[in-house]
Amino acid sequence: MKCLAEYEEKIHSCSKCGLCQSVCPIYKITGNDCTVSRGQFIMLRGVVKGDLKMSKTINRYLDLCLKCNACSKFCPAGIDVVDIIASAKAEFFQHSFWAKLKYFILKHIILGLGLKIVNIFSPKKKSQKFDKKVIYFGGCGGKLEGNKEIVTLLNSMGIEVITPDFDCCGIPFFTEGDFSSFEQYMKSFFEKLEQTGVTEIVTTCASCEKTIKSYKKWCENKEYTVKNIFEYIKEQNLSLELKNPIKVTFHKPCNLANFEDIEWILNNTKNLEYIQMKDFDKCCGLNGISKLKEYKIMKNLYKEKHKNIINTGAKTVLTSCLGCEKVLKLFSFGKYNVHDLTKFLYRNIKK
Ligand code: SF4
Ligand code: SF4
Repeated sequence: MKCLAEYEEKIHSCSKCGLCQSVCPIYKITGNDCTVSRGQFIMLRGVVKGDLKMSKTINRYLDLCLKCNACSKFCPAGIDVVDIIASAKAEFFQHSFWAKLKYFILKHIILGLGLKIVNIFSPKKKSQKFDKKVIYFGGCGGKLEGNKEIVTLLNSMGIEVITPDFDCCGIPFFTEGDFSSFEQYMKSFFEKLEQTGVTEIVTTCASCEKTIKSYKKWCENKEYTVKNIFEYIKEQNLSLELKNPIKVTFHKPCNLANFEDIEWILNNTKNLEYIQMKDFDKCCGLNGISKLKEYKIMKNLYKEKHKNIINTGAKTVLTSCLGCEKVLKLFSFGKYNVHDLTKFLYRNIKK
């Protein structure tokens, strides 16, 4: 992982054009330059030069960033704000007892012990044998809910699914600057992958997919490919039909690399009426959910998403990221149902 000082040149390349302000969901609510990449880079330049200390106040502003990457896609200098903020947070993490305690509990108690217990009881399906084999990376969602949907869908396409007992992909640790835990998750991933002898990985979660792909930034010599389940469905031109007509809308997770495959499924499944919501690709606010002290700011974000969903008239919202799914469910207030797209297809298609 790179330390903040190694990003000095990148931070310096920010021209202060302010284009990031026009797309940043948090800046639109706060109107405060310290909550968008332009202002954050000004502060971080001060930190790198030694003029500013990486204080609680700076950390609070960095915490407000949703890591949605909307600004990076728009930035003329092509600056990857998520990696830079993670490195800045790593500086803070090293000296913060409370941050270390919080992530110790998350790693050892919630994701460690908690998920291990749940994993024993989650439904597992044995795959049929085929010549083509893929590895399923289910992440935390896979541990909670098993693998039967993905195994059934891929087996129907003549693909065998191997399900090793992978840990978390490590994304919560990377974005919060706990690089040592992130590296442990990455190491564990490669150890388990190498034991299988298979290099093609399939996921159902956009955030897991993006994180596993990102391992290549630090482990260039590793040979593997990562796809989501929807790429296989489109590649095979699967003809899908729901048992009953259903009107749906879709929330696009910020981490989703390829919406075209999902759009193809939404538009080509018989009995499925897809209504695109306004700002369907705007962040749901997942990274703000854990910051209860910022609830007033985050509430505005959730309110807007909720309104856009209601306006479609659909009672079913689909998405493809475990985190987005949980946030959207929490703020649905019983007005609509939220489902992971893979599970929705598994339960509703004519077999
Ligand atoms: S869009 Fe990029 S270059 Fe322009 S102010 Fe924002 S971070 Fe700097
Ligand atoms: S990543 Fe998203 S929330 Fe963070 S500064 Fe960029 S646009 Fe704003």
